[in-house]
Amino acid sequence: LYVEQPLGQGQAVALTADQAHYLFAVMRLAVGAVVALFNGRDGEWRAEVAEAGKRGGVLVCQAQTRPLLMPPDLWLLFAPIKKARTDFIVEKAVEMGARRILPVQTRHTNSERIRQDRLQAHAVEAAEQCGGTFVPEVAELAALDRLLAGWPADRRILWCDESLMGAAQLLSGGLAGEPRGPWAILIGPEGGFSDQEKARLRAMPQVLAVSLGPRILRADTAAVAALALWQASLGD
Ligand code: SAM
Repeated sequence: LYVEQPLGQGQAVALTADQAHYLFAVMRLAVGAVVALFNGRDGEWRAEVAEAGKRGGVLVCQAQTRPLLMPPDLWLLFAPIKKARTDFIVEKAVEMGARRILPVQTRHTNSERIRQDRLQAHAVEAAEQCGGTFVPEVAELAALDRLLAGWPADRRILWCDESLMGAAQLLSGGLAGEPRGPWAILIGPEGGFSDQEKARLRAMPQVLAVSLGPRILRADTAAVAALALWQASLGD
């Protein structure tokens, strides 16, 4: 169960009404039952139900069962698409071990707004589901131009672009000699990147242009493929 509070030896964690409903009405747990807790910062803790009520309850942490497992220093930048596919990208990015997820507004991005709180909740659910002890931050939608203007000198960008098919190196074979981190993957919108964006990316020394193969992938497929290929070459 994901909670916001700090976790530590003997730490009492008060439950919200929703959490109490889930544990005591849906899962039918009672006082004395054991629950695994994580908050994305302190690893996983075994906690015992000390109080169980209809609208709340208290768990007490007994012992850490797993340390915090930080994923490698990889960010995923992507232009949001339709809601369900954006949700899919966030879920898969968490499962594939991205450390930060940054929705970006590009020239051809269809979606002007995202519900950052909803996407963050998806990230929590995905971490719960895949047994992760870390929850990546989903950032607010930010303009790609602005992000690139303040881009850290040491963070490499894997720029995935279908117009590079044939011309650029294939991501599958190209990363063996590259430094292990920090990195970011950049996936564009359904309309691809504009000429101006491409020129800007080409001019940045941090950018490595890569192809994901000879077919045009949907943005959600491209995100998962790029994450998997990066993990295979540089992940841990
Ligand atoms: N506008 C493009 C078109 O119709 O030709 C398609 C863009 S594609 C649906 C969305 C994003 O997925 C691209 O901006 C790119 O980041 C990534 N992508 C898709 N296929 C790719 C490939 N073969 N190599 C690298 N990136 C790819």
